[in-house]
Amino acid sequence: MYGLIALIRNLLLLVVVITVLRSVIGLVMKFLGGALSGSSGGSRPGPGAKTSPAVPLSGDLHRDPVCGTFVASTTAFQRQQGGERFYYCSEACRSQHILAAR
Ligand SMILES: [Zn+2]
Repeated sequence: MYGLIALIRNLLLLVVVITVLRSVIGLVMKFLGGALSGSSGGSRPGPGAKTSPAVPLSGDLHRDPVCGTFVASTTAFQRQQGGERFYYCSEACRSQHILAAR
């Protein structure tokens, strides 16, 4: 019985150690990344174009009517039908939807 308790305690200790290690590694990586990218000028990231990703994580997301995947409004696979605009994850879904609409 005592052995089991010791085992659980060791496991909890291991979890705590892993969590601390991960946060420390994360901080070190953040520091290294900041040192590498911010060699000239301040360490703070400016309001440049580097901060905006190619695909926006939040904001204009539309549901692919064929497979249900959420795609950004910047996708090349889109189609206007009537007053509605459809967004697709791929050319395959777009052509499938065109065929289904007929
Ligand atoms: Zn799709």
